[in-house]
Amino acid sequence: MSYEDVKKVWMNGRLVDFADARIHAFSHVFHYGSAMFEGARVYKTKSGSAAFRLDEHIKRLYDSCKVYRMEIPYSAEEFRAAIFDTVRANGFEECYIRPVVYRGLGALGVNPFKSPIDVLIAVWKWGKYLGDEAIEEGVDVCVSSWNRMAPNTFPAMAKATGNYLNSALIKMEAITNGYTEGIALDNAGRISEGSGENIFLVYGGRVLTPPLAGTILPGITRDSVLTIARDAGYMVVETAIAREMLYIADEAFFTGTAAEVTPIRSVDRIPVGGGRRGPVTERIQKDFFGLLSGNLEDRYGWLTPVPVESIVDSR
Ligand code: PMP
Repeated sequence: MSYEDVKKVWMNGRLVDFADARIHAFSHVFHYGSAMFEGARVYKTKSGSAAFRLDEHIKRLYDSCKVYRMEIPYSAEEFRAAIFDTVRANGFEECYIRPVVYRGLGALGVNPFKSPIDVLIAVWKWGKYLGDEAIEEGVDVCVSSWNRMAPNTFPAMAKATGNYLNSALIKMEAITNGYTEGIALDNAGRISEGSGENIFLVYGGRVLTPPLAGTILPGITRDSVLTIARDAGYMVVETAIAREMLYIADEAFFTGTAAEVTPIRSVDRIPVGGGRRGPVTERIQKDFFGLLSGNLEDRYGWLTPVPVESIVDSR
């Protein structure tokens, strides 16, 4: 991946050059993982650049911060405007958006309250996360030997950077063993999620996904797919799912801002269904990609056009 075309990063209200976007070595976040973040996308649509479900991403960021007693020093409107300023400053028609709220330079004890809340917004061009062919061909995955965090250890509903050490273990094990991604089980042995994606199964004509209490991130793509699938007439069930359902399901797919909707064609070398993308996955992909590209009418109001000019002067 190259960040050559990234010009500006938004840091605490100022757009700074990429080369100057630095954090002090004594920052609390660097030592203790004390940051909340988001990942959203701007797509190039027929009627210009538009962010996908940006307000939901901003809301989740505020929710994550609330769990960790971090008060964001901006209103949601200011935050949205700052995101658009950053996208415009980089001249991107399409990009990935990464806001981070973190504990900065203060005192290096574990107690986070003595370190200030800093905010940065990074944007860059990011293609297909699980590979260019993955969207059609599907990916080969494994069940990880690492579980997702147990309830009452790390709150899975908060998108905290520290949680991603668990994700890194899952991802490294998968890659080392020749798989694209790993699926983690929860501490009761049921299916939880991928290292950076929620998971869906299709079994007996029903669309299944683990419930929010199943130590998963409340994915915004997950929510979009639940809406699309219900509207397409599928019976959708949020329920605990046994590991072996992965092997006997008719179809399986991942959802995520980075992964979008990616079919899973095998788990632990066992083909899922016919070992290729199934019809329900394809149908959901068609609606999902149609909506975010503006080729289908924005019936849920999920697209926010990137304004041409700054609305709130946040610099
Ligand atoms: N689970 C985890 C652990 C993730 O990191 C992500 C990516 N943010 C998701 C699920 C999918 O969430 P979303 O659809 O909001 O990107």
